[in-house]
Amino acid sequence: MQIVIASRNPGKIKEVTEALFIPGIEFKTFEDFETWPSLSETGKSFEENAVIKARGVADFLGMPGIADDSGLLVDALGGRPGIFSSRYAGPEGDSRANIRLLLKELKDVPLKDRKARFVCVVALAMAGEEVRLARGECEGTILTEPRGKGGFGYDPVFLPSGFDRTMAELSLQEKNSISHRGKALAQMRIVLERLLQSQG
Ligand code: IMP
Repeated sequence: MQIVIASRNPGKIKEVTEALFIPGIEFKTFEDFETWPSLSETGKSFEENAVIKARGVADFLGMPGIADDSGLLVDALGGRPGIFSSRYAGPEGDSRANIRLLLKELKDVPLKDRKARFVCVVALAMAGEEVRLARGECEGTILTEPRGKGGFGYDPVFLPSGFDRTMAELSLQEKNSISHRGKALAQMRIVLERLLQSQG
């Protein structure tokens, strides 16, 4: 079975292919196609946006599509940036600018009140079938300065609960084992394995 990953984010593509390594499934990315749909994330929830991306790419390319929509919810900011996490500091999705803005907004908030969680919803779209969804969350604290070079996005300022290393200081395997995306993908893995079995 071939499935196209509906993302241009190299960090996400790596995490999805690593977590969903299943014999019998071959993942394709935007690099395998000459044309690619332009999709607007107009949904009001992670679920809606994940469906827009998975369906959009699957319909456009005529093959199964998998997408994730994810973001960071910070308690002290009433759940912001949430579904706007990639565009927090501007439309260009600059991670360093996003982190700078986040740290500025939290500058007067003590560490104990800097609780946050990452949320991820993964959607699998196949022609003629309902979209299948999986959701994962990962709790942690926003530090006062970035640490580490791994991962992407807000990883350098996110300290997962129970760890003394930031998400950006974990190996990809460690991150996948605790992350919101890793948890959502673990559920999606079960869905995919069942699908493969049912296809014989
Ligand atoms: P999306 O591409 O619309 O799903 O945007 C998700 C955004 O949320 C990313 O651009 C990051 O800013 C943030 N984000 C989601 N997952 C992670 C993660 O695993 N680490 C760090 N930041 C993340």
